[in-house]
Amino acid sequence: MNAPGTLREVSPVAVGPSDVKALDLIRRWIAFDTTSRESNLALIDWTRAYLESHGALTTLTFDDDRRKANLFATLPAVDGNATDGGIVLSGHTDVVPVDGQPWDTPPFEATVIGDRLYGRGVADMKSFSAIGLSCVPEIVRRGLKKPLHFALSYDEEIGCIGVRRLIADVVARGWTPAGCIVGEPTGMELVVAHKGKMGWRCRVRGREAHSSLTPQGVNAVQIACDIVAYIARRAREFRDGDHQDAAYDVPYTTAHVGVIRGGTALNIVPRDCAFEFEIRHLPMDDPNAFFADVRRHAESLLPAMHAVDPSTYIEFDHLSTLPGFDTHDGSAITDLGKHCNGTHACGKVSFGSEASLFHNANIPAVLCGPGHIAQAHQPNEWVSFEQLARCEAFMRRLADRLCAAPA
Ligand SMILES: [Zn+2]
Repeated sequence: MNAPGTLREVSPVAVGPSDVKALDLIRRWIAFDTTSRESNLALIDWTRAYLESHGALTTLTFDDDRRKANLFATLPAVDGNATDGGIVLSGHTDVVPVDGQPWDTPPFEATVIGDRLYGRGVADMKSFSAIGLSCVPEIVRRGLKKPLHFALSYDEEIGCIGVRRLIADVVARGWTPAGCIVGEPTGMELVVAHKGKMGWRCRVRGREAHSSLTPQGVNAVQIACDIVAYIARRAREFRDGDHQDAAYDVPYTTAHVGVIRGGTALNIVPRDCAFEFEIRHLPMDDPNAFFADVRRHAESLLPAMHAVDPSTYIEFDHLSTLPGFDTHDGSAITDLGKHCNGTHACGKVSFGSEASLFHNANIPAVLCGPGHIAQAHQPNEWVSFEQLARCEAFMRRLADRLCAAPA
């Protein structure tokens, strides 16, 4: 076994580069450095020109600085219909940073080694989009019964920010895609649900004192840790409770604290401490109820703090919300996904994605994409050619379903 993110010995190739028609297009996409903090416009402009050259109608929606854009592109059906029904292929264009990561290959150059392709974004998630785009010439030649849309977004990796504008624009125009396939790396397993997520920051203001005089101070670090311990206790209760869904890799709601900062020196009772925490919840657990419990626990600590200094406080900032989604078995998009995958199997995952935002805009969604989430965000991110070939087979079956004429 190889640990995720490490290069390995070159072994005999079962499925190799010659089995993947989209390889050139994947290489092009990887070569654009679309780290979330950078502009993605070079990639968007290139892709828009490519799609328009094949007759696509395109719309850009920008961020506030117009440094980044979503591209929504539609290949109309042979009867001219561009707005009613059809399937959306959804992918985010941004990737996570490579800073400080020990890469053995140039991250923004897709590199073939044995039966794997290495590069930032090969799994999460440029290969899916590139494979979809590579099918466009054939799809256009065969003609579509219903429109086919591409939804290519910015700033997914920092909280599914960009796609919200794209979806709002599609909804405002009254376009009604019938379903969406999001190509996040699922190992080409069909995923029909994922957990929701909410995040908060807690800021504790105490009172400074010399550490020999602790009763005259209010120790913000210790109060924060009391709340952190409460969150950890609630996480254990979720783990041990009866809300379980075995279809998830982690079958219960999780909560954790990811960042904490406080104090300045050992001989000072710390005045300030702040920490960030999140919940990743099953549909049956309410994140707001969890937060209300955390807040109630924090409030129970206030009387003792105020007895020393009434200006001390505990405050919370909401950081982010990503709803969960659950596309029920038997829905049209699930059936289509199963057909394209050639299997009846489907599962659920714990990581969030844009799928829930499409789902909540009445565009039922599933996830299915090449590569594995364990390789995402890692140095030496890789995807196997076997996975890429499976994704191409998926797209071929999708084209057979969507196109008017045979291959
Ligand atoms: Zn992703």
